Amino acid sequence: MVLDQPLRSFFMQLAKSKPLNKAAKKWGLKFGARQFVAGQTLEEAMATVIDLNNKGLVCTLDHLGEFVTEEQEALDSTEACLDVLRAINETGADCNLSVKLTQLGLDIDESFCLKNMKRIVQTARSFGIFVRIDMEDYAHCEQTLRILEKLRNEYDGVGTVIQAYLHRAEEDVRSLKGVPLRLVKGAYKESAEVALQEKALIDENYFNIIRLHLDNGSYTAIASHDHHIIEKVKTYAAENRIPKSQFEFQMLYGFRETLQKELLEQGYKVRLYVPFGTDWFGYFMRRLAERPQNIAFALRGFFSK
Ligand code: FAD
Repeated sequence: MVLDQPLRSFFMQLAKSKPLNKAAKKWGLKFGARQFVAGQTLEEAMATVIDLNNKGLVCTLDHLGEFVTEEQEALDSTEACLDVLRAINETGADCNLSVKLTQLGLDIDESFCLKNMKRIVQTARSFGIFVRIDMEDYAHCEQTLRILEKLRNEYDGVGTVIQAYLHRAEEDVRSLKGVPLRLVKGAYKESAEVALQEKALIDENYFNIIRLHLDNGSYTAIASHDHHIIEKVKTYAAENRIPKSQFEFQMLYGFRETLQKELLEQGYKVRLYVPFGTDWFGYFMRRLAERPQNIAFALRGFFSK
């Protein structure tokens, strides 16, 4: 679609708008966001997780949050993550936790963020729940890996995400042998200095790092809606006798339900990334930017209000 690029930039700009993100917290879920966000409260999100579990899907919960610049906001986000862990433990749901370090104060101070993460990880360890640190933009990559290393000294049920578009991706995957990684193509706009720019090259490097981590015997989460990649991984694993227990496919809540079902029927593990909370606007705008076809949902939602 010729309009794709301007539309992507438009939605990325909306995603970054502080006033809109702030205002949207008071609107409730609008414009079809409910398709991709599992509600505003933890109760709603847990009900969704249980429902997905009953369909054979496992989950990771993400408490949404944008632009955290005040210590109190980071402490509130930390509490929200602890509540998620307690709810998972109490309900016995097949679910883990995904967190973003900027939400936990990384832009305020690295050691403050580490302290918040340690509280989360200690609670997760006491319940035996895995914690995934999402990877944000390149500016936070080094800090994220540094924090990961410190946390893994205390609990090996912590992992992170490596983005295939980064030139450093292969080296990072090699040095993180044995660490459970989620591998993605990469969602942020990065410069040519640090990241590949062409889709074909990113796809090639994506499959390259997936193979590398699988060949290393490490647990690998392939987080993609790209059926070409998914097919290649299935074939590669079968040909190289990599057991289905060594990897899982991950998708975002609200995406590609038929494909999820097919994978389940074929005996693969499929985990859905389930976001929830009042701070839904930026996440939703990034999903529209990624795939302008999703705008149809948004327009339907807009006109039905
Ligand atoms: P794309 O390159 O977007 O799509 C490839 C092809 O797949 C398309 O051309 C189309 O043919 C098909 N396709 C894609 N979507 C659909 C659809 N909805 N319906 C039909 N066909 C479709 N990024 C980060 O930077 N950090 C993270 O921590 C992170 N975590 C993630 C967690 C999960 C669970 C997922 C799924 C993604 C995450 N991402 C993260 C985003 C990721 O980096 C990509 O930006 C995003 O997944 C888009 O790339 P893709 O691999 O899905 O395929």
